[in-house]
Amino acid sequence: MDTAERDHRQAQATALLDGLADRDVVAVAITWIDHSGIARVKSIPLDKLPRVAAHGVGASPVFDAFLLDDTIVAGRHSGSPVGDLRLHPDLARLTVLAGQPGWAWAPADRYDQRGEPHPQDERGLARTMADRLAVHGYEVRAGFEVEWVVGQGGTDDFRPATTGPAYGHIRQVELSDYCADLIAALVEQDVDVLQFHPEYAAGQFEVSTAPEDPVHAADTAVLVRETIRAITIRHGLRASFSPKVVADGVGNGGHLHVSLWRDGKSLFEGHLHPDAEAFAAGVLRHLPGLCAIGCPSVASYLRLIPSHWAGAYAAWGVENRETALRLVEGRDLEVKCFDLSANPYLVVAATLAAGLAGIVDGARLPDQITVNPVQVDNAQRLPQSLEDAVRAFEDDEVLTEAFGVEFAATIADVRRGEIARFAGATAEEITDATRWRH
Ligand code: GLU
Ligand code: MG
Repeated sequence: MDTAERDHRQAQATALLDGLADRDVVAVAITWIDHSGIARVKSIPLDKLPRVAAHGVGASPVFDAFLLDDTIVAGRHSGSPVGDLRLHPDLARLTVLAGQPGWAWAPADRYDQRGEPHPQDERGLARTMADRLAVHGYEVRAGFEVEWVVGQGGTDDFRPATTGPAYGHIRQVELSDYCADLIAALVEQDVDVLQFHPEYAAGQFEVSTAPEDPVHAADTAVLVRETIRAITIRHGLRASFSPKVVADGVGNGGHLHVSLWRDGKSLFEGHLHPDAEAFAAGVLRHLPGLCAIGCPSVASYLRLIPSHWAGAYAAWGVENRETALRLVEGRDLEVKCFDLSANPYLVVAATLAAGLAGIVDGARLPDQITVNPVQVDNAQRLPQSLEDAVRAFEDDEVLTEAFGVEFAATIADVRRGEIARFAGATAEEITDATRWRH
């Protein structure tokens, strides 16, 4: 980042100050998502925004080695207490938070102290992969579905805050003010909400948002989640985004919708264009390694089981909710196996890398699965443990090349740290330790 860019950012931030003060903003939360999927934050009083926009705010690179329980793994390239990075807020995404009066929020790009991008910056990697597709003439639109359960406050156990049936209007009546406050907050923050509904599991809800640039889709996933959290807490309740809230039953997914565009036209619209098919085939081919990114916690593998709508099979099908890839005909590709313990920037980055590899290879989709894959002889399961997923990631040259040596090694180190953390643990111990972390 050169001096002209710093001056530009400083001027941009200065121009925002009065408007933010008029909206009673006193501080800005600058978040990034670590490799274990947790939003970490540094905050500044409003008057520091111009300086921080230009020069960033300090944050240690040790966070790259954090696990979901805040222990720090001794990684091959990360985990050292030495060194510092700068978090630069992206002013284009600065949002006044409707659920947290006094606060604005912006996602961070992480640079080193000289202004070079940090090699393990998640948001930067997502941008790099979107740019690679752009070089080939493609634009990607993406959106996440966010699922969560609402529990009663004051307990670390999960006690559903509403006992209404799955998809039942009773849930929205019982939690009427909560649901309305949440939708109002999202809309006020310019989140383009497509749909809101009670989901299958006890106390579960879902929000889906409109497709957008893939980096912005990941930003939106963060903003939506933190807004849900804020509104839930204001109502004296607790929100869990864990892949498996309790040991039995259906978990929370974090499905990714992607579509591929060329010259302003969707290649998923109408008949599936060969490039869209190749993109989907690339994602399919790399799904085992992608699980280390999109299903990155030990709890992910308690969720990723057949007949739970989690997409536990390395297969695709039109409108098939049991295959990992659901082709929504005429619209987009839904990757159903991903969950919300994942870092959404890494999910976007890895999925785009896999899809682009499919395009470059001219990959073709195999036959689709038109039934529940449990009925299909030798239908292929996705990895059934985090260790299997990490090995698949390490063996995947497309994904490890996309991440680079240092970043790929740290992903593996962090995952193995969490595997070790839960060695010998029961499903209940895993769900208890994961429930309120993401
Ligand atoms: N809750 C399911 C999951 O774990 C998804 C339900 C649905 O199809 O939306 O992914
Ligand atoms: Mg759903």
